[in-house]
Amino acid sequence: MMYNSTVDKHSSVSSAQAIAQGISKDGGLFVPQELPQYGEEVFEKLAAMNYKERAKKVFSDFLTDFSEEEIDECVSKAYTSAKFGSENPAPLVNVKLNNISMNILELWHGPTCAFKDMALQILPHLLTKSVAKTEKGRLAVILVATSGDTGKAALEGFKDVDGTKIIVFYPENGVSPMQKRQMNTQDGTNVNVCAIKGNFDDAQTGVKAIFTNSEIIDELDRNNMSFSSANSINWGRLLPQIVYYVSAYCDLINSGKIVYGDKINIVVPTGNFGNILAAYYAGLMGIKINKLICASNSNNVLTDFIQTGTYDKNRQFFATISPSMDILVSSNLERLLYHLSGCDDVRVKDWMTKLKTTGKYTVDSDVFDKIKTSFFSGYCDDNTTKKTIGDLFKSSGYLCDTHTAVAVDVYRQYINSTGDSETPAVLASTASPYKFSKSVLEAIADENISAENEFDMVQELNRISGVPIPESLAGLKNKTVRFTNVTEANDMPEYVLKVLGI
Ligand SMILES: *Cc1c(COP(=O)(O)O)cnc(C)c1O
Repeated sequence: MMYNSTVDKHSSVSSAQAIAQGISKDGGLFVPQELPQYGEEVFEKLAAMNYKERAKKVFSDFLTDFSEEEIDECVSKAYTSAKFGSENPAPLVNVKLNNISMNILELWHGPTCAFKDMALQILPHLLTKSVAKTEKGRLAVILVATSGDTGKAALEGFKDVDGTKIIVFYPENGVSPMQKRQMNTQDGTNVNVCAIKGNFDDAQTGVKAIFTNSEIIDELDRNNMSFSSANSINWGRLLPQIVYYVSAYCDLINSGKIVYGDKINIVVPTGNFGNILAAYYAGLMGIKINKLICASNSNNVLTDFIQTGTYDKNRQFFATISPSMDILVSSNLERLLYHLSGCDDVRVKDWMTKLKTTGKYTVDSDVFDKIKTSFFSGYCDDNTTKKTIGDLFKSSGYLCDTHTAVAVDVYRQYINSTGDSETPAVLASTASPYKFSKSVLEAIADENISAENEFDMVQELNRISGVPIPESLAGLKNKTVRFTNVTEANDMPEYVLKVLGI
């Protein structure tokens, strides 16, 4: 299978090239030229498989330039029960909020307690194999700018993976104490972490500037190294996410909640549009979807887009209690537009150019009609997010994090607006409640909270909820801080060269 660029469908690359490169040279994103089609017979087979086998099937249909052994090795290394707590890294849990039944797809059982592990545990293996196919013998240098979750998940995924080195930049005062500690105590011989004086945008701009700095690229080249990207525009991060939607559909069949061919709703708390796009792809491949329900926080640019057909990022930015969704430019939307427009690279390029120059574009009616057919959208502010965590905990004893709560509330809005509580719903749960202990604690505690630091809050949340604390978070308190570097954003290039020893 070959991959095209969203802004030039005449250029095509293999999957190894798409993954090694991350982004197309013309600035577009790589999209698969066609999608494998799974009918009833395939689903019968998939339903009888475990998660790893399902993953191998999906991977082998997309990564046609990988051998069966290579895919087997990647999947086996990534989804171990040592890393995900059980043989099934993405369990489906049935929960009732009063009379509303939901199937919560828990995607946070990995090493960093956020759903990004589902992709970042396997990406390093896919990437090193892709580099070996396209630029044999090179060291892949991964640069990451993070507002918290991605950095840690990428560090855990790449640590001690041969042929890679990873450097993570985060804003000195822009991540939670837990996230900072998660990164600063990171182990591994090929990892480096550095705070920058500035905000997330400064870190991201700095990383992008290094990626396109020809002097630095040449210097790496002379030393047999090249840059690669671990953020969600890389196809190697989207593909692993398709697997868990296919798997959830199989699990619903196995539990007798649906029979093959029944439609489901899928609710996704959305930021960069990667997770929900993976569900859309799973729909194109054969799982039957009634509506994709796109849930946003107060940064509701996608809610408006899906309701009006106009994307407009010129609006106030809110720092919310679901920070991983605080985003005004959802990069992966570009891929959806490519498919909905009938692979019209010219129109996609035009919209993306308008977005860059004016912050705004409006899609044509053919595309907007398709969006309305496939999607429902809604948003939820911080107060309602907390109230939802409390409602769910009171009605079922189930504790969810702030991002998942946004999805739960928007699902409630969907039912109120459409009356459809019959179609079985899968809700993507994207983080452990312990990753956002303060807000979750405030949502369920009746008394005033006496806990002073993040670790006391974790204990307090455990005492009130009885929900076990993930080991990786509990253990952080006693880990040694390894990284205390802080640099000016302007000095990031020198920092990178120093770490690489060139
Ligand atoms: C990254 C993230 C999201 C948003 O996912 P996208 O794929 O960017 O839409 C939601 N919740 C959590 C906890 C995240 O870390």
